[in-house]
Amino acid sequence: MRYASMRNLDISNGEGVGVSLFVQGCPFHCKNCFNSETWDFNGGKEWTEEIREKFIKLIDRPYIKRVSFLGGECLAEQNLDEVLSLVKEINRRFPDKIIWLYTGYIFEQCRPFSEDGLLPGSNFAPHLQEILKKRWEIVGNVDVLVDGEYIDEQKDLTLKFRGSKNQRVIDVQQSLAQDKIILYCD
Ligand code: SF4
Repeated sequence: MRYASMRNLDISNGEGVGVSLFVQGCPFHCKNCFNSETWDFNGGKEWTEEIREKFIKLIDRPYIKRVSFLGGECLAEQNLDEVLSLVKEINRRFPDKIIWLYTGYIFEQCRPFSEDGLLPGSNFAPHLQEILKKRWEIVGNVDVLVDGEYIDEQKDLTLKFRGSKNQRVIDVQQSLAQDKIILYCD
């Protein structure tokens, strides 16, 4: 994985005081994206073991209540393995810290199973099914998901935690428990 930047004290990409990681690479290329320098999967910086340890140490401070993953696209194929490994480690080591994740995908697109419990198009190539499973596993390890591409025509500066009206701030664990979308905030 490559990453664009890390914020060690962030109050703007989620609730409370947090640490934020901006991963590198995004396939969506939304018009007027606020972070277009993160689009190139070969850009940014290499994510090394040392950087990962630094990131974990930043999280391991008592006043850090939240960890946010942004991009770039955290759920792009190139970033799935490392983001999955990170959210699992954060949940295991810091169960009280809230994980936020921003993605251009919508929640329903990440789900590998349709309502009737079948894989979406069981004719999907195994490679694609593997991607969907990892994406869904990441979502299952997250507390708050801000979903959907940024749509410039729906831009609204008064919105909390998101840039355009189509995006939703989803309470993932409640949504999974009730099997319907439950918003974390409007
Ligand atoms: S999904 Fe996010 S990072 Fe990617 S182009 Fe859209 S706004 Fe930019």
